[in-house]
Amino acid sequence: MNRAYTLDNLRAGEVFDLLVIGGGATGLGVAVDAAARGYTVALLERGDFAGGTSSRSTKLVHGGVRYLRQGDLKLVRTALLERGRLARNAPHLVRDLDFVIPAYGFTDRTFYGLGLKLYDTLAGPLSLGPSLMLSRAETMEHLLNIEPAGLRGGVLYHDAQFDDARLAVTLALTATDHGAVLLNHAEVLEFAREGDRITGVLARDRIGGGGLMVHARQVVNATGIFVDGLRAIEDPAARPSVSVSQGAHLVLPRRFLPGASALMVPKTDDGRVLFAIPWRDRVLVGTTDTARPGPDSEPRALVEECAFLLEHARRYLADDPAPEDVLSVFAGQRPLVRGEPKAETKSLSRDHSISVGPGGLLTVTGGKWTTYRLMAEEVVDLAARLAGLPPKPCPTADLPLRASIPIRPGSEILHPSLPYFEAEVRRAAREEAAQTVEDVLSRRTRCLLLDAHAASACAPRVAAILAEEFGRNEAWVAAQVRSFQALAATYAFPEG
Ligand SMILES: Cc1cc2nc3c(=O)[nH]c(=O)nc-3n(C[C@H](O)[C@H](O)[C@H](O)COP(=O)(O)OP(=O)(O)OC[C@H]3O[C@@H](n4cnc5c(N)ncnc54)[C@H](O)[C@@H]3O)c2cc1C
Repeated sequence: MNRAYTLDNLRAGEVFDLLVIGGGATGLGVAVDAAARGYTVALLERGDFAGGTSSRSTKLVHGGVRYLRQGDLKLVRTALLERGRLARNAPHLVRDLDFVIPAYGFTDRTFYGLGLKLYDTLAGPLSLGPSLMLSRAETMEHLLNIEPAGLRGGVLYHDAQFDDARLAVTLALTATDHGAVLLNHAEVLEFAREGDRITGVLARDRIGGGGLMVHARQVVNATGIFVDGLRAIEDPAARPSVSVSQGAHLVLPRRFLPGASALMVPKTDDGRVLFAIPWRDRVLVGTTDTARPGPDSEPRALVEECAFLLEHARRYLADDPAPEDVLSVFAGQRPLVRGEPKAETKSLSRDHSISVGPGGLLTVTGGKWTTYRLMAEEVVDLAARLAGLPPKPCPTADLPLRASIPIRPGSEILHPSLPYFEAEVRRAAREEAAQTVEDVLSRRTRCLLLDAHAASACAPRVAAILAEEFGRNEAWVAAQVRSFQALAATYAFPEG
């Protein structure tokens, strides 16, 4: 993914079969699918790949136990099927994880035990193992720091965990392997049209400056929470199609949940599901579900979201975390397909929607990471029909994704409390399209999410390495460090 080469390709005047706007889970999935079928594909991403919602998820590949409670068995079954496929196609990015629901009430164990038997049945042959009823002692063995007062037992079930930003880069590389042309830091500003029909886009290269005109037989709007902005450019009369709901996470040191199992709280005070999950030698606690007035490209966790998460973590953990224990706080925004105007976000659909506007713009939004492949299959089927392309079967159910070669620990470690090496920064710059310190510290590595303070301390060294790689000057280094450190400060636990 050499940027100069990619820009040359995009400027060569080729009319692509498909042009995808947005390089999150959805857009990257579409690019992989279409390129693997043999269509020509370009993708433009305004920021970095997965810089939006797709790097800010809870990082679970799951059927969604919460949807069981809502009775949405079809969605659960579909997601479980996709979970199995992803684990097969990207085994280096997905791992099985045991989840334990602690039971404090008299009927909790039986109630959740029965629900999870249904979850096992829906997974069928793709089940990762049967759910189990646990005694109080077994529950405490799985969850070493669980609050013991009133604990009666628990239920264990199996799901899977993945690294969202790494999967996004893997999809970008896989799409490139199949001939797609992908560019990050390139914002689509306007559409090109012939008559009423959209035939391409005008974009801006946010790294090198300059405009970019790219033509395609079909344009796909996969911009997540931002889809309505482009729909309004297509048709000023278009009605908003998504609501925005925010979810925050806290990252704690691993001592708050030692052991291999995750903790799942099926019902918090306000009826939400809450997880505490072992993640890369840390514990990820989340998430919330807070309606927001509109999309935000750098959403911040609200003070009350952080307080809610910490309060619930303290309720279920014996050794209570304090605000100063929190290593990082991050938030993401869900694009929820709109229901009734007054519907609460918790009850809006998590499923996706696909629509076609009057200029022919195909918009896809909603869904979840777990179902990105299926969404892409539906989008490319429809895109091919709309563009009059010869139909080609979708190969992605069994398509292996690019395997990454592990970095040999030999180069300097970036920071004593972070598991990354300088060689990973160089690889990110040379092979993974990272352009900025933030791309490296937030998504190629996960430093910012693992420890915002330590990530901030790494910024000068990372900027210096990138400057060497890209031939940048000291002013560029200083600006990159300033900008990243200002961002990292917003990942600290907010003062109430
Ligand atoms: C808190 C939270 C937790 C979640 N947890 C899970 C989970 O555990 N498991 C799971 O399966 N799912 C989870 N999800 C859902 C999942 O993360 C999302 O469904 C998915 O990431 C959405 O991807 P997307 O590509 O549609 O959107 P995005 O990732 O937001 O991508 C859209 C992209 O479009 C780009 N863009 C916008 N405008 C333009 C433009 N004009 N030109 C070019 N590019 C543009 C943006 O920069 C952005 O990168 C979670 C979501 C949230 C919010």
